[in-house]
Amino acid sequence: MLGGQTVSSNESMVGLVNYAKEAGAVELRELAVPEIGEDDVLLRVHSVAICGSDLHQYHGSQSWKVNYPVVLGHEFAGVIAKVGRRVAEFKEGDRVVSETAAVLPRDSALIRRGLYNLEPGRLGFGYGVDGAMAAFVKVASRCLHHVPNSLTLEDAALTEPCCVAYNAVCINSRVRPGDTVAVIGPGPIGLLCGTMARLSGAGHLVVIGTSVDTKRLEVARQTGADTTLGAHGEDISEWVRNHGDGYGVDLVIDAAGVSASLKMALEVVRPAGQITKVGWGPQPLNFSLDPLVQKAVTLQGSFSHNWAMWESVLVLLASGKIDLGPILNRVAPLDEWRTSFEAMHTGAIVKGVLQP
Ligand SMILES: [Zn+2]
Repeated sequence: MLGGQTVSSNESMVGLVNYAKEAGAVELRELAVPEIGEDDVLLRVHSVAICGSDLHQYHGSQSWKVNYPVVLGHEFAGVIAKVGRRVAEFKEGDRVVSETAAVLPRDSALIRRGLYNLEPGRLGFGYGVDGAMAAFVKVASRCLHHVPNSLTLEDAALTEPCCVAYNAVCINSRVRPGDTVAVIGPGPIGLLCGTMARLSGAGHLVVIGTSVDTKRLEVARQTGADTTLGAHGEDISEWVRNHGDGYGVDLVIDAAGVSASLKMALEVVRPAGQITKVGWGPQPLNFSLDPLVQKAVTLQGSFSHNWAMWESVLVLLASGKIDLGPILNRVAPLDEWRTSFEAMHTGAIVKGVLQP
């Protein structure tokens, strides 16, 4: 039995495997329970959240390299089932969440600066190495953080996207109390960026989507947006001209998964304002960046997160300052993965959690 105290390595488990680049190449498979090394733990997965990147790999539309076949899932929380010989800070039974840089080079100039999230040689769960959409996952103990008692493991599984948003808004952007902040793209990351902007003192938060985002813009209002635009073909530029002094917004967070949203960001940002791009888009741009020059705008990229951000976000989650209620719309067993993947893809739910 896997539910018992000990886990022997010859036992099997079920995992959700992405086995090829073609669209739909995802299925449940019988797998061996991973063997751990002396610096690893074996984590019994309690909750794993579905990310936009899992959906990209499901549709074969990702722009990153995948080591097929691979178990999906990099946003997860669970209970430690077994610890390696050299693991000192964690023990069997601990409730933990894991960062995503599963494998790092032994040493590098970036790692020494605490910038291991930007280390090109890193491999992440769910594409580089087996992820957490399975009963068990092997995790290097340096990836782990303790989950505070007041935080459920369902909510803890969303620590990772919260950290992406925290890095984009609270570290890589400059927000001052009273600033107007616009978020383009009301997906999970965009909505959480809105929450971070609100926590940072944004005076007016506007979330921008398109006609397919009716439900998600409703969630944006529940999570603190003062204005939502785009569901009914509103003229975004006109709204901005009529807002405040009319020069534009102080900060734009571009969290849309398309390149073209940067054009809108350049239109709505005020002179000397900032655009932080956290959404990916493989499409090339076909417009001029002259407004960036003319407005003297700062364009900032943001990717992933590091240890200190995880600690801060866990404090925010445990104290109830981040309300995941409106965002986490479905918790389902792993074998209902397809329904949840589809519901997230169509925007019927913002975020789903699976339980192996
Ligand atoms: Zn993710």
